[in-house]
Amino acid sequence: MSVKTRFECLQCGALVETIPGDLIYQCEFCKTKSYLASKGVLRYIHIPNASASAMPGNHAFHPFNTEHSINDAIIQIPFWSIKGLQYRIMPDKKIDFSLINSTIPALNQINYIHNLGYFSDVMDLKLDLNGDLVPAPQINQNNALELTEKRIKTLSYTSKSLFDRLIGETYSLISAPFRMMKDGNSFIIKNIYTGMIIATMDENSAQMLLNYTKEIFTQYKTTPLPLICQNCATDLPVEHLAISVICPHCFNLWKLTNAGYEWQRYKMALPKNDNHTFYLPFWDIEIHLEAFKISSRYDLMTAAMPYRLWNEEWKTRTLKAIVPAFKLNPGLFLKLSNRFTLMQIDPDIISERLPFHSAAHSIILSADEAIQSLKVVFANMFINQKNYFDSISDLKINIGNIDTIFFPFRKSHHELINDELNISVPLNAIKLGTCM
Ligand SMILES: [Zn+2]
Ligand SMILES: [Zn+2]
Repeated sequence: MSVKTRFECLQCGALVETIPGDLIYQCEFCKTKSYLASKGVLRYIHIPNASASAMPGNHAFHPFNTEHSINDAIIQIPFWSIKGLQYRIMPDKKIDFSLINSTIPALNQINYIHNLGYFSDVMDLKLDLNGDLVPAPQINQNNALELTEKRIKTLSYTSKSLFDRLIGETYSLISAPFRMMKDGNSFIIKNIYTGMIIATMDENSAQMLLNYTKEIFTQYKTTPLPLICQNCATDLPVEHLAISVICPHCFNLWKLTNAGYEWQRYKMALPKNDNHTFYLPFWDIEIHLEAFKISSRYDLMTAAMPYRLWNEEWKTRTLKAIVPAFKLNPGLFLKLSNRFTLMQIDPDIISERLPFHSAAHSIILSADEAIQSLKVVFANMFINQKNYFDSISDLKINIGNIDTIFFPFRKSHHELINDELNISVPLNAIKLGTCM
């Protein structure tokens, strides 16, 4: 299930529907296309909508606390909203995966077992543009991911896996109003909408929490920038959840950073056929494996496919993994990573911009996510090789240089095909991966 959010278009005020954490938005009404340059992740505040304020026992309130008294104070509590994928490598040579869509408290005083507790189809979220509505998180993004992993572990699973890997894909902060109420000698923190109590604390702690949530952190300002190429001013594609977009006119690649557009270097694989005009981005990651006694491309090919003799020249080639820089369903992601990493030919890789009249997919999956996925990629690669698979949970992977390479494909009705590599990717799988 996906959570969508609505917020007011910064240009015309019409409601824009998006998902939390998406930097790119286009207003249906005024056609404004923007990218949100934000220090840290995007922040949203849950504001009461008509149905919520009509809930019984929910008298009118202001989402921003103006009270100084602890009793009955309304405070904003930020939660990390994390969407991602969990892979479980099972001893019976299966790789299970599930989609994770969870919220986890971003403040130390709230136990990580709690979540926001509700996800209506559409939450009314207001983008915290000036950074003065959502309290700053005390728990950082990486810790939030670790806590989510810990929570999943304590909540479920009877079967033991060799190892689990949670790969976070989109992060944002969602803040919701809670009421602080006196209850005997202590104070309870209660969700205004659901009535769920997420913490009980003494007066001192309650006062600390109240003070903290009142501080304003304007360094988290978000600046909407027009979605245009910084080189030729052509409109950049509206590709949701993209982190780097390529200009369809001059083929410069732009990374969407906190501070604004940043030019990004990339390489391309030379197409062997004229009809290969659509490019997909991949991460080309130099790796060093500890333990496996695999140190060159030759070693890897021999380990993965021992029944063949490989090019002796590859003994001097750096070991690399090549994984998609776009989103796909997990099975296909692993399959493509396998096929590209164990490529049986040497494509011509050049440092040039994509040719005119070509088109390319944006980068959706970050290098960090790609790196996080590597251990799963190797588990999948060696799934039928006992020597390796048995020690897969101990595998340590060190990372060297990372490049972006665009590989050419031809478009057929339902798939993208690279004839030289004999690889096809269903078009709807790419759409699926990209659409939330
Ligand atoms: Zn608009
Ligand atoms: Zn351009």
